[in-house]
Amino acid sequence: MTNSTPIAGRIVNSYWVLAALLILGLLSGCGNRFEEQLRGTHQQVKTNIDHLKTQLDNKQLTNALLIKKYRRDRCVHFAVFAVTIFEDEGSDNMIFESHAHYDDEQFGSDREAILKKVRDSGVGCIINAASSMNSSRISLELAKSHEIIYTSVGVHPHDVQDMKESDLEILLAMTAFDKVVAIGEIGLDYYYDTAPREIQKLWFREQIKLAVDLDLPVIIHSREAAQDTFDILHEGNAHSVGGVIHCFSGSVEMAKRYVDLGYYLGIGGVVTFKNAKKITQVVEVIPLDRLLIETDAPYLAPVPYRGKRNDSSHLAEVIAKIAEIKGITPEEVEKVTWENGQRLFRL
Ligand SMILES: [Zn+2]
Ligand SMILES: [Zn+2]
Repeated sequence: MTNSTPIAGRIVNSYWVLAALLILGLLSGCGNRFEEQLRGTHQQVKTNIDHLKTQLDNKQLTNALLIKKYRRDRCVHFAVFAVTIFEDEGSDNMIFESHAHYDDEQFGSDREAILKKVRDSGVGCIINAASSMNSSRISLELAKSHEIIYTSVGVHPHDVQDMKESDLEILLAMTAFDKVVAIGEIGLDYYYDTAPREIQKLWFREQIKLAVDLDLPVIIHSREAAQDTFDILHEGNAHSVGGVIHCFSGSVEMAKRYVDLGYYLGIGGVVTFKNAKKITQVVEVIPLDRLLIETDAPYLAPVPYRGKRNDSSHLAEVIAKIAEIKGITPEEVEKVTWENGQRLFRL
């Protein structure tokens, strides 16, 4: 035993050395192949950029490239290439999602995975907009269990039909939790008319009163009810607490009236649609410091995801479109809309 052990040890050792050499050899081979692939990709991107250069003048080129690069940076799978190709240190900005519905049953089976994807895409804050008494409860739980989620509480015009006086007291009690940052989404919807208009107006007024009493901003839903929405907000003195007209779809004149009173306008996926003339004009005219970005997820996905389930990782498309309309960088849109969200919801 004493004699054979060192020989066996030497044999075992030499096997280890051989194995190590083999692994090293394999790894360097893989490394070379990976580098070749990377070089190939670089070359392809450079050719594309050269092609673009010949087609655009300098200003267009700068914006087009910045927006292209931004879309790539915000795409997790291509992050490595983007950093290598453009030798950029990356942006420290975070995206402020001002309106999403992660309490929606469409997220029932994969909510956590989607929220992880959303965080990885650069979203640093989400306002989850409640839409009914039950949605307010679930939304509150989501805010408790997820650091980046804040919530509103309130009842959407679609759900006011069965609202009771005692519901206002329950909403009031919910606002005691410090991650409840707004009352909403509340308002009027004359497109679906799910509840009679007088009932919609009654509970819209009551919930505005609650927001003003509590000094909380409002998240407003308004569809085909522009004048009534404006009048009720004005009568209720809602501008004293501030708010956002989410998924704004009105005229430039109406946008200016809201902005003059201190409201923000929520811009979502609709701005990327081909026939979005009205909202494009609004984004052109209204200063960036009065705009918020939103998805209204799981609804209203932007191009190229139109018709699919929406989530906040698609905000990059909305940001890129606003940057294009305003002739500024997407990073600037991110930065200013982040500051706007923090200011409105007092975070
Ligand atoms: Zn809405
Ligand atoms: Zn909504």
